[in-house]
Amino acid sequence: MKLRPLFLILAVGLGLAPAFSASADDRPNILFIFTDDHAPHAIGAYEGWLKSLNPTPEIDKLAADGMLFVNSFCTNSICGPSRAVIQSGKHSHKNGFRDNGNKFDWDQQTFPKLLQKAGYQTAIYGKSHLDGKPQGFDDWKVLPGQGLYYNPDFLTPEGKVTIQGYCTDIVTDLAVEWLTKKRDESKPFMLMMQHKAPHRNWMPAPRHLSLYDDIDIPEPPTLFDKYEDNAPPARFQELEIDRHMDINYDLFVDLTADYNQPPSQMRQDRSAWNNMKRMTPEQMEAWRGYYGPKDKEFHDANLSGQDLVRWKFQRYAKNYLRCVKGVDESVARMRETLKNLGLDKNTVVIYSSDQGFYIGDHGWFDKRWMYEESLKMPLIISWPGVTKPGSKNTDLVQNLDYAETFLEMAGAEIPSDMQGLSLVPLLKGETPAKWRDAIYYHYYEYPSVHMVPRHYGIRTDRFKLMHFYQFGEEWEFYDLDADPGELMNQYNNPYYADEVAEMKKKLEEIRKFYDDDSDVSEMPDEWKKEMRKPSPKPEA
Ligand code: CA
Repeated sequence: MKLRPLFLILAVGLGLAPAFSASADDRPNILFIFTDDHAPHAIGAYEGWLKSLNPTPEIDKLAADGMLFVNSFCTNSICGPSRAVIQSGKHSHKNGFRDNGNKFDWDQQTFPKLLQKAGYQTAIYGKSHLDGKPQGFDDWKVLPGQGLYYNPDFLTPEGKVTIQGYCTDIVTDLAVEWLTKKRDESKPFMLMMQHKAPHRNWMPAPRHLSLYDDIDIPEPPTLFDKYEDNAPPARFQELEIDRHMDINYDLFVDLTADYNQPPSQMRQDRSAWNNMKRMTPEQMEAWRGYYGPKDKEFHDANLSGQDLVRWKFQRYAKNYLRCVKGVDESVARMRETLKNLGLDKNTVVIYSSDQGFYIGDHGWFDKRWMYEESLKMPLIISWPGVTKPGSKNTDLVQNLDYAETFLEMAGAEIPSDMQGLSLVPLLKGETPAKWRDAIYYHYYEYPSVHMVPRHYGIRTDRFKLMHFYQFGEEWEFYDLDADPGELMNQYNNPYYADEVAEMKKKLEEIRKFYDDDSDVSEMPDEWKKEMRKPSPKPEA
């Protein structure tokens, strides 16, 4: 706020006053486009083995117009907690939402409430994943829990409604409708458009079913990782494409051998049918028309071993990237809408996703770990007149910083109990001399689906140290310069003894700095034994 008079004087001095005089408030609007489980390496503007597929031309255009954050990380790699960190500007242990089983306390201080106080109009559409009625929003329509891809329900201030169509398109429609018809034009806005896509179970829009049909997706270099160098947790997880990805539930393979009919006899428990039964007859026809013949080919081929893993990877990666395509189109629609409304010059557009994801990397799907693929979050920010087009920032940033950033953009005060740092100086190309030299991570959801143990850790621009504390002395240490794929755990390598000691010291310091008082005690041997029973392979 306090910068406005100076800005207006400059604008008048430069003869720009007429362009701004139509609006009572020249602070920037903020469009926050947020997706679920979209790994940076599934974005063309980032580096990675999927780049050659050109998976996201529209998000890439946003990067070409703005700033891409290369070293962008979450604090806790899972859906709800990441969102709670963004709302509060605080680590999980401070905002109280440590794992997806928690309920978010909406009564606490959140940045949308502070933006409202500062005169912003706020709205959220799509996936909230924080349970309870969203607070701090002038309008909202959110999916219950994970939400559905086809013909989903939405929770609204007026109660539950069902909206026909494909979720990514519907959420975009809601955001466009608010921009064009519902918002108060006298106020700047913060619009959070939060897609379910590309979250499991990966269901593309009918129009994207045959995308990538005629090509093979390149395989990640670590698809057949054996976790030989890791601490034990990597060998006891349950997120392998090989052993834990379900042919029917995850990949929608019809098990009834009636390939062109609706799969009415699919298993009723952990079944693809649970996610398909909402389809209209037309949607079902398109779906089965595409997958039916492919399922028949799959059954006829009778694959096993690495061939089966490769086949599962292809269907998984294609469906994931088809969901990403829907998101990419949504980004284009939103930017076009801003342009049509004359809002593009004064609207900050942000693209981010709640964490990264394994797209076959290390043989996995899902997230949770502090390894790079799920620790990283995409972050692209275009702020017309502020961010240098096509710029890349390599400072260490986290979702912990978003609330502070939005508040500074709005000229509002940043509360002293928020734990992150505003990215505004970085966006201006002016990184402070004393920017953070390490980020802190803490994952809690265990024992739980996928069986990734609790761990905390620290990452600098070169090294990473992780501790699976409930199992005692189970540590990993990586030199990311020498080993960006994290295939050589150097924790016990004498060559790195000094660096490991230094990182351990830093880890204790950063835990104190963020005041993490979570219970990190080692568990009894009996418990450890129970947790490490070998997991059976699911029935195909
Ligand atoms: Ca997620």
